[in-house]
Amino acid sequence: MSTGVPAADAPPLRVGLTGGIASGKTLIASQFAALGAAVIDADQVARELTAPGAPLLSEILERFGALVEQRFGSKLLRVDGSLDRALLRRLVFEDAEQRRSLEGLLHPRIRARMAALSEQLGGIYQVHIVPLLVETGSTRRYDRVLLVDCPEALQLQRLQARDGIDPKEAQAMLAAQASRAARLAAANDVIVNDAEPEALGPKVAALDRKYRELARAGRS
Ligand code: ATP
Repeated sequence: MSTGVPAADAPPLRVGLTGGIASGKTLIASQFAALGAAVIDADQVARELTAPGAPLLSEILERFGALVEQRFGSKLLRVDGSLDRALLRRLVFEDAEQRRSLEGLLHPRIRARMAALSEQLGGIYQVHIVPLLVETGSTRRYDRVLLVDCPEALQLQRLQARDGIDPKEAQAMLAAQASRAARLAAANDVIVNDAEPEALGPKVAALDRKYRELARAGRS
């Protein structure tokens, strides 16, 4: 059935790629990009929006700077003009009210910037990396939710190897996120990332074909 929308103007199929910390989202997104998908990364957008000189950085400093100094005795702004993200993460990790306040500042702007990028990039389908897709109830913004699923033990191992943090801290970071069951319940598609990276290729290629077909079907 025709939608009446000319194919060239049809919006891309949008895939929200999510998964726990260090589950392999970035690695998998890079494989979709290699097959031609446009990729937008919410973490990267957040870093750009809070880069030195950005208006949002000033707002964050105004709202949390004094509190961070009072609690941890260190400045939220580094000497090179960049935000000390680890310190801010620590504050909101310990304090739910401050976390909500930070999310209120960040999330609407991240969403707006991602929407603008999505429009600019176009294409047949796009992959948006959104680590907190389930936690923020954003599944309805996407045509498909793709979950990178990974056993917790492997997640902990990869997190510690990549970021050099201790097991207790890694465990606490995992505990603060949505459960594996909640993510699985929200997902349309799942990639299990529990083997060597080479095992991902055929899984990504199969989904690439599926998303292209779904996008085409939605346009015809
Ligand atoms: P974050 O949530 O912190 O943004 P992420 O989900 O994007 O993380 P990646 O950075 O892609 O996860 O992967 C985490 C680490 O695990 C990286 O160092 C990556 O190279 C490694 N990794 C991912 N998948 C595999 C795999 N199948 N085998 C071995 N190492 C892997």
